[in-house]
Amino acid sequence: MMVELKFETVVCPHCAAGPAPRQARTVAADGQRRVTVTWHVASCPHYVADRLLAGQDD
Ligand SMILES: [Zn+2]
Repeated sequence: MMVELKFETVVCPHCAAGPAPRQARTVAADGQRRVTVTWHVASCPHYVADRLLAGQDD
């Protein structure tokens, strides 16, 4: 079954990064077909925290 996802771009309140080639992003799904994409600069502590929460600390 096809699920149509709705993407929302969120601006980080800490670093206020926007989509750009050298910036990082985190993606989160809320289980209700809604996916949020948050952009950060790579050094943003919010980005680090999001990666830890997502278990992507590679
Ligand atoms: Zn940020």
